[in-house]
Amino acid sequence: MTAEKTERPLLQFAAPRRAKPARHLADLTMPERRAAVAELGEKPFRADQLSRHYFSHLTTDVAEMTDLSAAAREKLSVLLPPLLTSVRELTTDAGTTRKTLWRLFDGALVESVLMRYPDRVTMCVSSQAGCGMNCPFCATGQAGLTRNMSTAEIVEQVVSGARALAANEVPGGPGRVNNVVFMGMGEPLANYKAVIGAVRRLVDPAPDGLGISARGITVSTVGLVPAINKLADEGLPVTLALSLHAPDDELRDSLVPINTRWKVHEVLDAAWAYAAKTKRRVSIEYALIKDINDQEWRADLLGKLVKHKLVHVNLIPLNPTPGSKWTASRPEDERAFVRRLEFHGVPVTVRDTRGREIDGACGQLAAAE
Ligand code: SAH
Repeated sequence: MTAEKTERPLLQFAAPRRAKPARHLADLTMPERRAAVAELGEKPFRADQLSRHYFSHLTTDVAEMTDLSAAAREKLSVLLPPLLTSVRELTTDAGTTRKTLWRLFDGALVESVLMRYPDRVTMCVSSQAGCGMNCPFCATGQAGLTRNMSTAEIVEQVVSGARALAANEVPGGPGRVNNVVFMGMGEPLANYKAVIGAVRRLVDPAPDGLGISARGITVSTVGLVPAINKLADEGLPVTLALSLHAPDDELRDSLVPINTRWKVHEVLDAAWAYAAKTKRRVSIEYALIKDINDQEWRADLLGKLVKHKLVHVNLIPLNPTPGSKWTASRPEDERAFVRRLEFHGVPVTVRDTRGREIDGACGQLAAAE
């Protein structure tokens, strides 16, 4: 692979300084909400009422909040500013996969995807507008980092999906969001504080939060080792997904440039420590790219690195990005790769490519208008 000439740095951690989105109820902890309500001259318990409207009834329309006086509604509405505007919606799989392109207050664009399966609903959300991690096979990575999203901007993606499900707008009857995966745009651990805030809002029992099980939440990362260690200490048993994509440093340096900072053995050690602390099986993500990382010897090396660990390997057929010189592996190579891992006793599955037709599958979220 030849490095392309680029104006951007190889890795971009700090988001450009930009105006921040308005403060929203979902940015705040329960005590902070009570304080904010008191500052507006209302009784602190109004924060509980407002939280119930937002997190349980999924409404932001103060006109519907008939347990509040007209004057209180007016004052409290500043805590529910509109943060996301739907620009476009694309559906496939008879309406059960639905991608939304959102415009944020400053014009930045992000996407989220709702996927309904017979037994569950998964929402894939964005944590940054763009991404600074520069993985060459990922559409978002090629666009660079625009800015970090706020906690409430992240939560709102899930609330909007929950609202659509509750309103019976998704085929399959009224439903709720069971799983949230941070596999949309952005590197969640590069926007640590906002992402942790969002995870807390998602798992806090209603009406403080959405009441989604922490076990249903997956944070996917390129492998920011210090942030993985920090996440392990949060006391939140969320699933960690590690985007490995290569078992050897030589190849991973180019496929996942963060590897130039933290090597394969370092990031795997952090993953095992995470598993030990949280008792959660770590998911190793591996996009199979034809003739790049899909050789049997690499499967063998991967198998040796992860065998006997609390792990699951998730193989993702590469979704080629526009103009990409790479493509998905041949079926026989994919099968051989799976067999080698199974030989080592490693649990492995090949991910479905839901949403591919609407550019909603992994690595395709580019948010072009
Ligand atoms: N920044 C996080 C989350 C982003 S995307 C991370 O890297 O983990 C979620 C997954 O999709 C990651 O494993 C990512 O490597 C993978 N992915 C990105 N582009 C892809 C593509 N073109 N085909 C298949 N998977 C891709």
